[in-house]
Amino acid sequence: MSRALNFNAGPASLPFAALARARDELIDFDGSGMSVMEHSHRGKVYEKVHHEATALVAELLELPKDYDVLFVQGGASMAFAQIPMNFLEAGKTADYIVTGAWGEKAVSEARAMSKAANGGEVHMAASTQQDKTYVRVPRQDELSLTPGAAYVHCTSNETIHGVEYALGPSTPFPKVQAPLICDMSSDILGRRVDMTQFDVVYGGAQKNIGPSGVTIVIAKKSMLDRGRKDLPAIFQYRTHAENKSLYNTPPTFGIYLVRNTLAWLKSEGGVAAIEARNVKKAAALYDTIDGSGGFYRCPVDKACRSIMNVVWRLPTPELEEAFVKEAEAQQMIGLKGHRSVGGIRASIYNAVEPAWVDALAAFMKDFAKRRG
Ligand SMILES: *Cc1c(COP(=O)(O)O)cnc(C)c1O
Repeated sequence: MSRALNFNAGPASLPFAALARARDELIDFDGSGMSVMEHSHRGKVYEKVHHEATALVAELLELPKDYDVLFVQGGASMAFAQIPMNFLEAGKTADYIVTGAWGEKAVSEARAMSKAANGGEVHMAASTQQDKTYVRVPRQDELSLTPGAAYVHCTSNETIHGVEYALGPSTPFPKVQAPLICDMSSDILGRRVDMTQFDVVYGGAQKNIGPSGVTIVIAKKSMLDRGRKDLPAIFQYRTHAENKSLYNTPPTFGIYLVRNTLAWLKSEGGVAAIEARNVKKAAALYDTIDGSGGFYRCPVDKACRSIMNVVWRLPTPELEEAFVKEAEAQQMIGLKGHRSVGGIRASIYNAVEPAWVDALAAFMKDFAKRRG
């Protein structure tokens, strides 16, 4: 069997080791005579997997003790609504910093939820949309923050536009007074980030963490305590924290695959090691783009270029189509840009192997030579 060179944006490539482990353990999990999917979510066999997955998230992200890790459902898209439902009380304002399409969706859902649930105001604290093209994050002096805001919401990596905050151990998010909530769907665990600057972080698992169907929520316990209590229990993040994500039946097989994926990440040296690899992968593509004499063009400001989703254009839509088609013939999958923006996008998450990226860069050089 030959593995496809999978550059899909999400669901995305999973580590081969995580899949092979699932194959080996599928029929008879841990000598129990059944698969992990068939176990009760209240039984010892599954519980061990569940707690290992939770503990791996906390360990790999170096979370302090006052954070909870939750596995819920509904995707990041449901969190767009559930975050304001829980944390935007009447009489308060939530500030949204929008740097791409996902941030736009978050604002729109917050507005709808605020109306439906008698919540507070939604305020656009900054948007770097310029004629529908997001190419950078706002500067600190561009933020219009509300004093006493319920929270500030941001998207650390905009998956569609390839725009990322340059976060690192010594590069914090711009200073804000209110609790900071971050959609980290597409860059969580891809680089070292000081998680303690965030009060809530959430994301769909299907980029860097595992398969779709699992949503991760990481939250400060004190923030969860402040959430609205007049909501149905299932919608309160508090409920899931109090029940260690076992309030109702969780997506057990998905969480099992998260366990496999994170165990692989740990065995590879954790976030610091994968970050070094990711930075090199991204540089191989950006260097090829910048060295193409203008044949390939990345619209994103250099300081905000994503190391997870690399986007670029070719001189014409016809050439872009030919590029994607020829790449597919060489087993390189998922390079078409998002339908809303066009162009090319290579998603190079943790599980995307450096050799695949090298092959893509070589193909880019060859294509430019032939068609440039
Ligand atoms: C993929 C993605 C989403 C949507 O996630 P779903 O799990 O499909 O709802 C939201 N935000 C970002 C940044 C994403 O990359």
